[in-house]
Parts: sequence; C-alpha cells; structure tokens
Amino acid sequence: MKRGLPKVNVEGLKSFIPEDEIFQWLEKTKNPTPERVREIIQRSLDKNRLEPEEMATLINADSPEMAEEIFEGARELKERVYGNRIVLFAPLYIGNECINNCQYCGFRCSNQEVARKTLTMPELDNEIEALVNRGHKRLILVYGEHPNYDAQFIHDSVKEVYAQKHGNGEIRRVNINAAPLDREGFELVKSAGIGTYQIFQETYHQATYKQQHPSGPKSEYLWRLHGLDRAQEAGIDDVGIGALMGLTDWRFETMALLYHTIHLEERFNVGPHTISFPRIEPAIGTNTSDYPGVSDYDFKRLVAILRLSVPYTGLILTCRESVELRNEIIKFGVSQIDAGSDIGVGAYSTQGDESYKKSQFVLSDGRSLDQVIRELCEADFIPSFCTGCYRLGRTGEHFMEFAVPGFVKRFCTPNAVLTFLEYMEDYSSPETKKVGMKQIERELDRMPEGDQKDKLTERIEQVKQGARDLYF
Ligand code: SAM
Ligand code: SF4
Repeated sequence: MKRGLPKVNVEGLKSFIPEDEIFQWLEKTKNPTPERVREIIQRSLDKNRLEPEEMATLINADSPEMAEEIFEGARELKERVYGNRIVLFAPLYIGNECINNCQYCGFRCSNQEVARKTLTMPELDNEIEALVNRGHKRLILVYGEHPNYDAQFIHDSVKEVYAQKHGNGEIRRVNINAAPLDREGFELVKSAGIGTYQIFQETYHQATYKQQHPSGPKSEYLWRLHGLDRAQEAGIDDVGIGALMGLTDWRFETMALLYHTIHLEERFNVGPHTISFPRIEPAIGTNTSDYPGVSDYDFKRLVAILRLSVPYTGLILTCRESVELRNEIIKFGVSQIDAGSDIGVGAYSTQGDESYKKSQFVLSDGRSLDQVIRELCEADFIPSFCTGCYRLGRTGEHFMEFAVPGFVKRFCTPNAVLTFLEYMEDYSSPETKKVGMKQIERELDRMPEGDQKDKLTERIEQVKQGARDLYF
C-alpha cells in the first residue's frame, strides 16, 4: 500500500535551539583557567552529562596543552565506560532519488550528474547476500527523500533485509537514516523491527539551514528538528542525532547537539542513542569547497568534547574520514564505525562498475571489513557485531553501559567475543584469524575468574562447534 510522504506540518512547533544563548556561552567562557577545565573533565569522568556552559568552556580551552588534557580525559572516559570494543556496521544505500535540494549533497534533485537508482527487491537481496557473505550483521539503510520511499517502502525493505539468510549468517540489526516521518509513519517503520532511527539536522543554525535547503520538504527546519520527537512518540526509543560538520561554525553545531540531547532527555527521559558528526566531503557535481569546513585538529577536539559532554551516548565515526584520523579518533570515544563501506546504490553486489556515479559523496577509508578488523585487533580493540541488547529488549543500550556498573564486562565484552569469533569462523582471512584469536585470548586473560568467564569459555567452544547467534 502506498502512503506517500507525510504532510509537513509545523503548526505549534518551536525551536529548542537557543541560538543567542549558544553564542553568549561561547563568548562568556573565553580564556578558561586550566583549573576550571580540569574540574569539568573530572565532572565528566564522574559520569555527569555536562551543561552548555561547561561544553563551551571546553570548546574555548583551545591551547595545545589544554586540548591535550581534553583528549586524555576523553580517552580515559572511553576506557572506563566502554572498554576497548568497537561495534562494526555497514551503510546500505537503498535509493538516491530525492526531491530535496540540499546544496552539499550529490543526490539533490538539481544535480544532473548523478545517475538515479532505486534497488528493486531482488537487487536488495543481492546486496544483502554480498554483505552477509562478508560477515556483516548490522546495517544502516539510507534513503533519499522521495514519494517512492514512504514509510511503507521503508518498512518493506527492512522486512526484506531481515528475511534473508545466507550460509551461517543474517543481518540482525537494521538501523535507518531517512527523512523525518509523521507519527503514523514512524509507528509503521518501528513495526518492522528497526534499531535506531537517525535524522541529522545538518545545521542547527537557522539562517544557514535556510540557505542550504532551498526547496522540498527538508526546507522546513522545524519539521526536521522535531522529527525525532515524533519518532519517540511513536515508540522508537533509540534515536540518533547528528550535524553535518563544516556547513557553519563547528562550535555552534557541537553546542546545538548538546541542546538537542538535553531536549530529548527532558521530554523523553532518555537522550539520543547515538550522535554522528559527518564532515562534509566532495560530491559528484557539487562544489563543497566554499564551506567553512572543520580542520582535522578541530575535528578531533569536537569528538573529544562530545565524548566528555555526553558520556552515555554512542559516537559514530564513518569512512568519510581517513584511516589515520579514524585510528586516532577511535581512541577517544568513538564506539561504532562502519567498515568495508560502499555508498554507491547497488555497489556491494556489482563491484567494479561505475557505482560512484550513484554515490552521494566520496569516501576516504577504502579498507575492507577484514582489513579494518585486523588493524583493530593489532591496536588492541575487540571488534563487535553484537546485537544482543536490542534483541533482548534492552534498548538504550549505551545508557546501560554507562549507568549499570559492570554492564560492559557482563554483557558487552562477552558478546563482542562471541560475535567476533563467529566472524572468524565463517568469514575472515587466515591472517586476520591469527591476529583475532590472539585478541580473544587477551580478552579472556583480562576477565576475572568466575561464573561469567566459565560461561563464556563454554560458549566459545559451542561457536567453534558450529553454534551461532549466542549472546548474554
Ligand atoms: N535523505 C535523508 C536525509 O537527508 O536525512 C537521509 C539520507 S542522507 C543520504 C544521509 C546524510 O548524509 C545526510 O543527513 C547528510 O548529513 C550526509 N551528507 C550529505 N551530503 C554529504 C556530503 N557531501 N558529505 C558528507 N556527508 C553528506
Ligand atoms: Fe536528499 Fe538527503 Fe541528499 Fe538532502 S541529504 S539531497 S534529503 S539525500
């Protein structure tokens, strides 16, 4: 049944992003003392979500010495709260038709240079087969905004993904990055069993927003700003926020992400499940060189500051960034990365054709999943494909990791080990398996003796014997 796109309705909606107040905080907190900065870092290490004044102070602590202390604080927080596991996922572009005209995006309707394509269901199946056969378990499905991609279509494509089984594997969690829906639309999509629904505001700065989104439904700032409220009202309690960094001053956007977080906490008692901070990348037929951008150094600062400011939320870093930068940033707080990504529509199953012509922008990190995994292990991370929490109804998992003492040790690390072992049994190259098995041994050595370790050891044996999808 076709529902069509929702009717954009901003009646009664107000912005919860106080632009003047943000600029005032950024002004008032200039030149902070090292003592004040340390005090704030300590408050974060004590697991408090920071206040806007405190985040602004960290943003203004921009001397190299202070920045180093912020990086160090973020590294420590990440280790204390999340341990050394990194959750892996892949993006899957379902279609690049779009009726919006976002100036930075290759998919905008005025771009003649992009080849338009929507996967048919058999083509979607081929993509899933290719992804499952590489070892993926978690996907984010990405859609343009178009009457063909209404809530029913999103629902049906999610169902199609879950219905696929290939060899020993299947996709176990499907997240969505798509246009904001109305409440009924969100309810329908939720009923397909989605994980997180992500909507990036792109820029929280209204004047910039207006200029960057001249036409189409996305031109309504407030409809988008309140999109995740409607998702929450529809029962989707894992929502992902984000800003496209580089369109305007990153300091403003980072502050606004905190205000959005506080708004969700106040209204729904739960902050965002994830925060994303994609940086603007070159796109086919699109001139992205005129934007203010964000330097690598400031980008690192913004990630560390977000980590400290919202300690309970998962941070996502994508293949838009280079390998070197990703390796560095992973250490201070990122908990999820994509790997082996291809963002051309249909690109996973039709390798080597001109899929870039159907891509939204250009990726920097072109490593395969296997290579990323090997390098993660070499750097003492434990790759995870875990979907346990969400399937046991423990939604808001990052909140629990953070709030429940021992949660990571009890659930996350063992589940990372089991899902990673599955990967090695079924998909990995011999080189990666060698490095990966050593990493699993290291993890077991780090676990205290006791019931949990015994259970994990038992399940490791079961996976080696062919059992799959075991989790705590
Ligand atoms: N069409 C939906 C929307 O706009 O919300 C969802 C998918 S859109 C394809 C996913 C995200 O890609 C956007 O929210 C935007 O942040 C990001 N994006 C768009 N153009 C980009 C570019 N040139 N470089 C990096 N990220 C970009
Ligand atoms: Fe369309 Fe999304 Fe690209 Fe905007 S960012 S042009 S809405 S696909």
